[in-house]
Amino acid sequence: MSLLSINKSGNVITLIFHNPAVLAAVGGLTLCGFHSVVRSLANSVGLTFKKSRIGANEKGWASATRPEDFRDWGGALLKWITDYRENCRDIHVISRVEPNYLQKGLPTSAPTVGEGWQSIMSDLDSKILPGLTHWEASNRFFAYFKPHASYPAVLGEMLCAGLNVMGFDWIASPACTELEVVTLDWLGQFLNLPDKFLGSSEGPGGGVIQGSAGESATVVLLAAAVRKQKAQSERTKMVVYVSDQTHAIAQKATMILGIRCRVVKTSIENRFEMQAADLEAAIEEDVKNGLCPIAAVATTGTTSSCAFDPLVPIAAVCKKRDLWVHVDAAYGGAYACLDKYREKFEGLEEVDSFCVNCHKKLLCPFDIAALYVANRRPILDALSLQPEYLRNAHSESGAVVDFEHWQMPLGRRFRSLKLWFVMRRFGTEGLRFHVQNGCDLADYFADLVEKDEELEISVPVSLSLVCFRWKGRGEEDQQRLLDAVKATGEAFVIHTKLDGRIVIRVACGGVEQTKEDVLGCYNVISRELRRIK
Ligand code: PLP
Repeated sequence: MSLLSINKSGNVITLIFHNPAVLAAVGGLTLCGFHSVVRSLANSVGLTFKKSRIGANEKGWASATRPEDFRDWGGALLKWITDYRENCRDIHVISRVEPNYLQKGLPTSAPTVGEGWQSIMSDLDSKILPGLTHWEASNRFFAYFKPHASYPAVLGEMLCAGLNVMGFDWIASPACTELEVVTLDWLGQFLNLPDKFLGSSEGPGGGVIQGSAGESATVVLLAAAVRKQKAQSERTKMVVYVSDQTHAIAQKATMILGIRCRVVKTSIENRFEMQAADLEAAIEEDVKNGLCPIAAVATTGTTSSCAFDPLVPIAAVCKKRDLWVHVDAAYGGAYACLDKYREKFEGLEEVDSFCVNCHKKLLCPFDIAALYVANRRPILDALSLQPEYLRNAHSESGAVVDFEHWQMPLGRRFRSLKLWFVMRRFGTEGLRFHVQNGCDLADYFADLVEKDEELEISVPVSLSLVCFRWKGRGEEDQQRLLDAVKATGEAFVIHTKLDGRIVIRVACGGVEQTKEDVLGCYNVISRELRRIK
């Protein structure tokens, strides 16, 4: 085994000491000028000199726990991520691997002796990369809702893992709890939410970070159920109202909680908005049949077409029967920062809870959903337990917030760091620009669709989403077009069904997304349509 090796990568030359004894010896030599001799030699031929204790082939427990290992390879990984994100712009956007490709490509059991980073990193390129669909490819990814994990938020995520505090109660890490309160208040103000949702307000409301909009819906519907249970109603008789456009998370929450879910139908004539009169009729019918309505879920920005349920009349109907109104604003909530959408959020004063995903339009990587409640009490009643080992003077004083009682798990990550980094690094101006940019790009794409005699817009454009069809063609052709576009790998778009008919959804927006990117997406669709016509 060699004791010392020299690595040259680009114009950086690294001396790698494979044995601590050699390092110590060279350390001695360094005192005698070895270090500077090598550096000046390297410099004279235009190279940069770097000394490293990390052997490329170093393995095992000891090296994996060394700070240098983390520092050096952490740097390498950051570079890998940056290179990936630059390069994924122009590669086949949807993964083409066959099912089980990785089970076939990786050993069937874990290595007994820890491996060197170099071989792990090499598998990242050869094994993992081919199995990725490139969500960060801002010029090719138009599927679902275009997310964007901005660089500041990725760093926040890294810091969260590096600090690894478990902020379940205040004393578990005061900064974790308090930064969450502060950043959620910042976000609430940015989105023009009513004061009652802010932690700094006088009332019993406030915000809390949950993992997802689905978790948030489960928590608030549980609170709504527990609230009614006090009035002696059985779970199996409880009903939650959603529309046929509500995301499946709401129905899933009712499945978990063992309560009923009633779907209120919407129509294209009402632009797929839940009608308060239909909701009221459903509630009254259920009451007559001995059931117990407990909550309604309204959506501001539905997944299929970005429809907005009218909050004012829905809240008024729910108030009559004391139903909890939850607003699923997972995607659309971010647009509350724009004046032009302000009226779509009218009625928030009257609702009980509101959830917006920071991991959708707000530049954070999954998972960070901001859940705001007008009154924390029902959630605390539903989820508070205080085992002996968690008792502490601060909690007992009542002067602090213990977020463990606002959520399902006990442990909680320091997730507010990524939102804090985003809000500080971009500022509200930057964030608003990003949200507005998505709308502008969608308008531009819609314009291209409108000018194309082969295509037709299916519903008025809302937020950053455009829904359209191949004009005059049946369902089979819509599917053929979708398949053809996806097969190119040049654009990833998905479909939904509106009024029983397939429509193609193009979700615009992404920090680096430009008009050229959107035009590129349109060109692929137009070209493929004419090819398969
Ligand atoms: N609600 C709406 C309106 C959505 O569009 C989505 C996802 O796109 C969700 C909920 C699901 O969000 P999560 O994965 O955070 O549960």
